[in-house]
Amino acid sequence: MMTRNEIANNIAYKAYIIRKTALDMGYAAGEHGAHFGSTLSIAEIMATLFFGIMHYDPKHTDDPNRDRFVLSKGHGSLALYITLSEAGYIDKEILKTFETKDSILPGHPSLHPELGIEYATGSLGHGLSLGAGAALAAKWDRLSYMTYVLCGDGECNEGSIWEAAMLASKEHLDNLVAIIDCNRMQSDGFVKDICEYGDMAAKWRAFGWNVKEVNGHDPLELYNALGKNNHAAGKPLAIIAHTVKGKGVTLFENNPKTHHYRIKKDEYEAALDELERDEKNRRSNYEG
Ligand SMILES: [Mg+2]
Repeated sequence: MMTRNEIANNIAYKAYIIRKTALDMGYAAGEHGAHFGSTLSIAEIMATLFFGIMHYDPKHTDDPNRDRFVLSKGHGSLALYITLSEAGYIDKEILKTFETKDSILPGHPSLHPELGIEYATGSLGHGLSLGAGAALAAKWDRLSYMTYVLCGDGECNEGSIWEAAMLASKEHLDNLVAIIDCNRMQSDGFVKDICEYGDMAAKWRAFGWNVKEVNGHDPLELYNALGKNNHAAGKPLAIIAHTVKGKGVTLFENNPKTHHYRIKKDEYEAALDELERDEKNRRSNYEG
């Protein structure tokens, strides 16, 4: 059995793979560009869910007890595709087709249950309702799976998020977890300049949810917060993950001009160097 430190190390490594592969795929997408910032923001969250928390088997995609995942912020699709590839659902050759004509991997995820993509998302504000439905179905069918929904903080401008939050609380969906990627930015700029939300944790508490706040780039904090111990009976769980949009690549960090971006060759090479250098440092610290 792996120790917590070994699990955290594996999550950090997978997050590095997500970032590095996202750069490769986004660069290959050329003139189409890609949502780099949003993808880099959620690398540790995705890695923690799929390589530390969730129960699934890519060989049995119709297992009724598989945990469900909804990427409500669908523009983070690069992170989803790469994670599902690392998890054994999507062949690496298929990853190379990202955003090409007739590809099954467009900029926003479309429905492909056989690849582990069970929800088409990207039209913002819908994912939590889908997740609440899945969690409610589990209660009705007496199934033990958990449902995880990853939302953006800008996405929480959508009223439908709060309708679903209210329903989940009313239905006592303690098998539902919402993770809010609080990078303080949204597609058109900084949250504070567009629709400031103030205390995100207080809002979810007011809607009757159990709430945990974490550093969304710290694998151990994420792993501990998502662990079973934090699931209060009768209440859904919201994880407020404080993150940096574009995390890990200076060009993208907190840069409103790069929400959707066509990366140039020299920028791509510099970004790869930066990621590789940081991963090397992280590994040597871990190995002591
Ligand atoms: Mg955001």
